[in-house]
Amino acid sequence: MTIDSGLETQYSQLFYRLSPANSKLFYKLSPGNSKLNTPNSKLNTPRSKLPTILQPIEVFNAKTSSITINLWQITFNMFIKKSILSLVLLLTCIMAAKAQVKIGFEVSFKEPQAHYAEVQMNISGLAKDYVDVKMPVWTPGSYLVREFEKSVEEFKATAAGKPAKVEKVSKNTWRIFSAKASNIKINYRVYAFEISVRTPFIDESHAFLSPTGIFMHPDGMIKSPSTVKIIPFKTWSKVSTGLPPVAGQQFTYHASDFDILYDSPIEVGNQDVFEFMAAGVRHEVAMYGGGNYDKEKLKVDMAKIVEEPTKLYGENPNKHYVFIVHNFLRGGGGLEHLNSTTLGATRNAYNTEAGYKGFLALVAHEYHHLWNVKRLRPVALGPFDYDNENYTTNLWVAEGFTSYYENKYMQRAGFNDATQFVTDLAGAVGTVVNTPGAKYQSAASSSYDAWIIGYRPNENSRNNSISYYSKGEVIGILMDLEIINATKGQKSLDDVMKAMYLQCKTLKRGYTDAEFKAMVEKISGISFTNFWAKYVNGVDDVEYKKYFEYAGVNVTTENATPDKPVTGASGQLTNNGTISVTLIARNSAAWIAGLNVNDEIISLDGVSVNDALETIKLRSPMLSLETLPLVTKKNIGEVLKLKVKRDGLDKDISLTLKENPNVRLKPTIKEDATPAQKAVFAKWLGN
Ligand SMILES: [Zn+2]
Repeated sequence: MTIDSGLETQYSQLFYRLSPANSKLFYKLSPGNSKLNTPNSKLNTPRSKLPTILQPIEVFNAKTSSITINLWQITFNMFIKKSILSLVLLLTCIMAAKAQVKIGFEVSFKEPQAHYAEVQMNISGLAKDYVDVKMPVWTPGSYLVREFEKSVEEFKATAAGKPAKVEKVSKNTWRIFSAKASNIKINYRVYAFEISVRTPFIDESHAFLSPTGIFMHPDGMIKSPSTVKIIPFKTWSKVSTGLPPVAGQQFTYHASDFDILYDSPIEVGNQDVFEFMAAGVRHEVAMYGGGNYDKEKLKVDMAKIVEEPTKLYGENPNKHYVFIVHNFLRGGGGLEHLNSTTLGATRNAYNTEAGYKGFLALVAHEYHHLWNVKRLRPVALGPFDYDNENYTTNLWVAEGFTSYYENKYMQRAGFNDATQFVTDLAGAVGTVVNTPGAKYQSAASSSYDAWIIGYRPNENSRNNSISYYSKGEVIGILMDLEIINATKGQKSLDDVMKAMYLQCKTLKRGYTDAEFKAMVEKISGISFTNFWAKYVNGVDDVEYKKYFEYAGVNVTTENATPDKPVTGASGQLTNNGTISVTLIARNSAAWIAGLNVNDEIISLDGVSVNDALETIKLRSPMLSLETLPLVTKKNIGEVLKLKVKRDGLDKDISLTLKENPNVRLKPTIKEDATPAQKAVFAKWLGN
């Protein structure tokens, strides 16, 4: 995402597009530089190499030597002026040509019940032999090529009012042979039936226009502005989006470029809309799907959350911000945008403590992204390449640290106390400690491979990979404690985040991994080379006890199920009364014995699965074998005999039960902590 693209003038956009050589020349030719001694390679060219027009006039008179130079300078100055003039002329022409290009969209809904949007795209001022228009293949913030172009149907175009030939030239590119016509009209339909915060969805009750799955752009014209007019279905009356409205035109919005359009989801329907002010920003909440939320309570509590990151970063980049909330039977997840977010929530969980806090934590997470990833961003994440994967090794900062800050804001805004704060963080550490894949994949590599592993997990993912959310959160905890400890409570990770935000803002680009590390070292005053080698690029065991101890928090570990044997196999109860195996933990009894994912367990020690369940009532068909009483009663080292069907054939498998490798972390805030530890703890809590 270009952090300031909305502020760029058309002039600077155009200027940026000139080749580096040209832009350098233009800079150097700016007023004040037209002197011979200017430090400019072009102007320092030996006179003999200069074009004829610039050769000094030879005058055979010693007295006229100064005139010679003057004449030379006059001629040269004329050349400079001419050059500037022609460059300005050229720029003006190009700007005028660009300024004439107008792109407008109209989105309507003929058959919302069948999940379709009708999109009309009008392009005027592009008099070319052909125009390529493209659909993004992914949406920023969700690192998976989703091939949005696959949902496009009935793509048609006219040029100057006549049907134009259209040819598909790549999976997501349509070529319109417009024969230099300056008015092109494109019509296509989009099928939208995937419920998520990152994909469009349409039914008779509403339309969620996740923009990367709806709007196309002319190739090479990402920086062009456009307008979007929404024509709601006849039973709908509202539109909610972070895009600024066009004055005097109902449901019409302006996008200053395609990065902005692609970062601005649009909710159309009869959503429940309410507002609150916080951090000097007007916040709009658009609730779809009903729910047992208390609007007045939400306004107060969401405002408390919003204030925390604004305090940390010292400023809020928006004047208007929109929360689009989709309430479902069971919902979750969120996607961050520059001035809005889309959240998934569980319709009737707002009145339970866990459900309500879960929603506020999601608000905290997505709101923190306003800075971390949308503006304080890895260098690879903006400007975006909408045709390909955008690789970065820093999602552990972008997502992991945001997960960590969720906890910080929940505590700082008064929703969690200090004990809950350390308990939640110890839980996050436990997740990493108990994931076998943490020993096989680093945080940097997990970030880089988000596209092929993080978003495409398979049955073995837990064994060979670690989420950059989980590991990143743990790195955030350790890094924060290390900085606070090294500076004796003077500085924290907060200072790093704020400084990096300001650095990205000043440089108008994202950070590199080396720059992030350099800032951590600058703020803390110590080297983080070992830390990076062990926890960012390496797979070393996390020394959590040492770090928590800095803050006077004692962490003890105990076996997750002491004296109880485990198999390491999980599965799903089938309608046939068997268990279909879905997961085998690395190095577990099941792993060693050769039980496979997709094996169907028919009996355990000769007892059918139904009988082995005894009186257990499963809340879902998922279960681990060790929850069966028959297994629980056994001892570590004993054998469990399974009869399974694999690809229709019977097989006997004997498992030698093992001790549970998983641990539970128990943090205790020490009452007899030293003053130094207390200082670290206070800073950790943001005091
Ligand atoms: Zn996130």
